[in-house]
Order: sequence, then C-alpha cells, then structure tokens
Amino acid sequence: MSCFALRRGKCSILDVKKCEGSDCNFYKTEAQVKKERKKVFGRIKTLDRHIQIHISETYYGGKMPWLKGGINNEC
Ligand code: SF4
Repeated sequence: MSCFALRRGKCSILDVKKCEGSDCNFYKTEAQVKKERKKVFGRIKTLDRHIQIHISETYYGGKMPWLKGGINNEC
C-alpha cells in the first residue's frame, strides 16, 4: 500500500528527494489517516464551543469539518 502523502511519485508533506516507503517515520496509509481523523474529530466535538472555534480558526480556515462528518465528508 502506498502512503497517503504520495502524490504523483513525490512526497507532498516532507522535503525529501525520494519517498522512503514504509521505513519512513511518517508513513501512513489512507485508511490509517481516515481512522485517526475520525478519532480526532470525535475528540474535538467533545470540547467547549470556544475551544472548537479556536481550533477551527487556527487549523481549518474557520471551518468545522468535525460537525459535518469530516474533511471532504470522508469520515
Ligand atoms: S512514506 Fe514518508 S516520504 Fe514517502 S510519501 Fe509518505 S511521508 Fe512522504
């Protein structure tokens, strides 16, 4: 299985010349990313509203994807 970050043969998250494959410390499958995202969004949903707004503004451009079922509705 390929890493979620591999795009057209290049890593989209690290500044590396060549993908290190499953030996890379950042290697994750798309399924792992979806599972982790679902867990994170579940946790964020339990936080106070003002904290959710802070997270939304800081990391998600003002959006709250955890309220819609995930980024691109993947979760
Ligand atoms: S395995 Fe590592 S280098 Fe390769 S795409 Fe994933 S994060 Fe990037």
